[in-house]
Amino acid sequence: MSANENHTKDNKPGMPPRHPRGNYQTWIIIATLGFILLLMYFGNSGELPAITRSEFETMIESRDVKRLVLIKNQDVVEITLTPDALNNAKYKERLEKSSRFGVNPAGPHFKMKVGSVDTFISDYRELNKKIPRNEQVDLQFEERSDYFSLFLNWGFLLLILIGFWMLMRRMTGGAGPGGQIFNIGKSRAALFDAENKVKVTFQDVAGLDEAKEEVQEIVEFLKNPSKFTRLGGKIPKGALLVGPPGTGKTLLAKAVAGEAGVPFFSLSGSDFVEMFVGVGAARVRDLFKQAKEKAPCIVFIDEIDAIGRSRGRGQIPGANDERENTLNSLLVEMDGFATDSGVIILAATNRPDVLDAALLRPGRFDRQISIDKPDIAGREAIFKVHLKPIKLDPGVDAKKLAAQTPGFAGADIANVCNEAALIAARRDKQAVDMQDFQDAIDRVIGGLEKKNKIISPEEKRIVAYHEAGHAVAGWFLEHADPLVKVSIVPRGVAALGYAQYLPKEQFLYQTEQLLDEMCMAFGGRAAEEIVFGKISTGALSDLERITKMAYSMVTIYGMNKEIGNLSFYDSKASEYAFQKPYSEATAEKIDREVKRIVDECYERTKKLLLQHRQHLEAVAQELLKKEILFQNDLERLIGKRPFDKPTTYQQFTNGSEQKPATPQNNSPEKNEPAPAEPNPGDISSKP
Ligand code: ADP
Ligand code: MG
Ligand code: ZN
Repeated sequence: MSANENHTKDNKPGMPPRHPRGNYQTWIIIATLGFILLLMYFGNSGELPAITRSEFETMIESRDVKRLVLIKNQDVVEITLTPDALNNAKYKERLEKSSRFGVNPAGPHFKMKVGSVDTFISDYRELNKKIPRNEQVDLQFEERSDYFSLFLNWGFLLLILIGFWMLMRRMTGGAGPGGQIFNIGKSRAALFDAENKVKVTFQDVAGLDEAKEEVQEIVEFLKNPSKFTRLGGKIPKGALLVGPPGTGKTLLAKAVAGEAGVPFFSLSGSDFVEMFVGVGAARVRDLFKQAKEKAPCIVFIDEIDAIGRSRGRGQIPGANDERENTLNSLLVEMDGFATDSGVIILAATNRPDVLDAALLRPGRFDRQISIDKPDIAGREAIFKVHLKPIKLDPGVDAKKLAAQTPGFAGADIANVCNEAALIAARRDKQAVDMQDFQDAIDRVIGGLEKKNKIISPEEKRIVAYHEAGHAVAGWFLEHADPLVKVSIVPRGVAALGYAQYLPKEQFLYQTEQLLDEMCMAFGGRAAEEIVFGKISTGALSDLERITKMAYSMVTIYGMNKEIGNLSFYDSKASEYAFQKPYSEATAEKIDREVKRIVDECYERTKKLLLQHRQHLEAVAQELLKKEILFQNDLERLIGKRPFDKPTTYQQFTNGSEQKPATPQNNSPEKNEPAPAEPNPGDISSKP
């Protein structure tokens, strides 16, 4: 992995720094508790010492009471003593004991619970009959709100509200003390500009020359629009990076951010998605508002298929209106801003097939930049990038590694380099050598190499002949891909051995090529039958491939006599509603035709291997000895391939690298551990 990787992921410079969550929440809880305690402390007459009915009667009779307040809604009487009575030791002692802040001369001093207001009033009247009128104390009435019970009623509601509020905040991932529920409609884009720089440059992106050129052109558009509009051209609104996973789409976009010199908003399609309806659309609008303020700038939406999936396909009706709204508002915004507003949208996806057609219409993403898995030159360049930070043995050759990793994407190559370094470290080596890379490749191809997997000698023999069958069949089939290596080192769970080929960089296949490919796949099973007279389950994945190929030849490509030039492939077919577009009779014909093709292939393979029986034997025996054989080993064993068209690899290396498994020759170029920059001469010499 390159050291540049860790920059953008964890630490989005466009976002406010995240506060450690829970800090202020603790404070809220403490404050609430404190509030409750304060209320209990002050807000309630519970502090007053209570007296009994007879004490009260004595008080009244001895004229000690100055004021009487009946709090009707609490069924309590508050009693205020006369100043004389306050000095009376009888009360004084009791008051001082129960009062926290000293006795308040203004009162009230005591309280008394009453059974019911009405009975108390009549009882009091009764009591006053013994007292002369001018010495009687009038009963005053009051309604008093009790803060404590008030709090119990309302505070509960308040607590629920607070809890709900916190829950919302957590769900929206809001940070900072500002209450981000209000920011839910804000876009989550990270902004990279002069202050927040990405450290990835175009140097870190190997290969992808055409894609690089195209995105660079887009940057040019932004920096100098008049150069292009002068002649009447229009600046494109958007470009879509399309390619399989791990081919460097995100990396390329990061490099654009690093090199563009204009503000760069980056976010992922899933950032629009939220559980609340309308949020996605609001975020799209907010994103474009921000972008227009910063124009000229670039907006990058990674994994756009998260929102750009075609509407109303393969889903329960009405299930995802929200995503549709989001997509619609994206379309509207893309239409809405004028071409000279200086905002260009870059998006990436590895599922262009599921994207809504409206997104791909000219005027939206009017450029599609396709990023394919790297060819051999691309792989070499990528290897060079990822070998740079590794301490290498002089024997390590990026060309050779590239030749051994057909079909690898950039991410796989990065993985191989990392694995190799780890393996070398485990073996206590000073530098990473070719063997470590070899093992890393094996590991990446098929999971961990199982050295200790118990495999019986008999099984090993079967595997050796099986793989030798593939190798020999391919060797003598004109259209088969050239072999890179064949191995019987068990890997992973399923694969007991494998033969690795170097596919040509090609997009059209002719019937002969497909047939030869199928024959080569049959090589394993045919060899088993010839040598042992028995077949094994080891050919499962071969048979699967063959069957698939045969069916597509018949039903898709029209490569057969019986069915003719019909294709039952429906590129618009919905994912669920599959209907056979042909009759039962045709179905039978198809099955018969497929069986005929497959049977013929198998017979041809068997014949071929019988012809080369001694070659099969030689390769299998050598395999049992060495476990891994390379192309030059086979040349030594069974002679040069009769169809010596130069392979892509040989063309690429100008035939200089014919013997991959021999020890390094000492040409100075080979000993260079991965030059710092991909050599432009190497790349232009690719076929
Ligand atoms: P995706 O196309 O799925 O977005 P990424 O851009 O995330 O793939 O690539 C994953 C990793 O693979 C990158 O971080 C980088 O290390 C490596 N990689 C992929 N393509 C290239 C390339 N062309 N040059 C150098 N490294 C690459
Ligand atoms: Mg990506
Ligand atoms: Zn096989």
